[in-house]
Amino acid sequence: MKKWNLIIDVAKCHDCNNCFISCKDEHIGNDWKPYSEAQPWHGHRWMNIMRREHGQYPKVEVAYLPVPCMHCDNPECMKAAKNGAIYKREDGIVIIDPEKAKGQKDLVGACPYGAIWWNDEKAVPQKCTFCVHLLEEGWKQPRCVQACPTGALEMVHAEDAEIQKRIKAEELEAYLPELKTKPRVYYKNLYRYTTCFVAGNVALQDKDECADGAKVTLRSSGKAIDKTVTNNYGDFKFDRLDENSGPYELEVSYTGYKTKKVSVEELKASVNVGTIFL
Ligand code: SF4
Ligand code: SF4
Repeated sequence: MKKWNLIIDVAKCHDCNNCFISCKDEHIGNDWKPYSEAQPWHGHRWMNIMRREHGQYPKVEVAYLPVPCMHCDNPECMKAAKNGAIYKREDGIVIIDPEKAKGQKDLVGACPYGAIWWNDEKAVPQKCTFCVHLLEEGWKQPRCVQACPTGALEMVHAEDAEIQKRIKAEELEAYLPELKTKPRVYYKNLYRYTTCFVAGNVALQDKDECADGAKVTLRSSGKAIDKTVTNNYGDFKFDRLDENSGPYELEVSYTGYKTKKVSVEELKASVNVGTIFL
């Protein structure tokens, strides 16, 4: 049977907030029973865009991570709910029943992704429904996906075997897989949010110019783990390095110049080593 999945490309998200606002437009002032009561005007972020700044000036990157309910196949929220107040549909969508969940404020803390929000006025926990009321009318996507101008969001209605093929082919990942909730939201280019980089640039001191084509090797415990070549601005960057990994050593070589080594401490965050003069 086909189930609903959401694929989010972190590299395409520019934090425009159209997804967040279209969610508000769909749900504020609108009860979509039996799936949801109206979202309050303030406080809720059913599509929560998280932000992370990497590096130091001038090598700075910002990654944006849209985080809705993950519609998990092993949902912690469902285990914590009383009276069957949270259930999983055959099409993969996880729903909080707004009647049965009345008063169950504890459910806000039951989601390890922080995807459940408390509606004080109605005394009900709430979250993203994948706009199931629209999907049941024949829509192919929720409002957030429809509103995204960059194609960062893609709704996929597919058999599990088909989505598994895409996960493999496109290197899709779950966010925080260690939570073991088996999300149905998958991320492309997640490394841009979750990992670190080591960057810098190389210059030729005697000529006062950028070293275009310098060879840079990244070593860990003496072993080369990656190699790159500087561009015409002398820039280089090593991506996808785990937080708290290292220490590292950079080795820079350029024909006619003495090879230079630069130490990089254990990575607490992305690092710009600045200009390496040969
Ligand atoms: S993300 Fe949280 S609220 Fe959504 S299904 Fe998973 S555990 Fe439940
Ligand atoms: S609409 Fe698309 S690009 Fe804009 S914030 Fe949402 S996911 Fe990112």
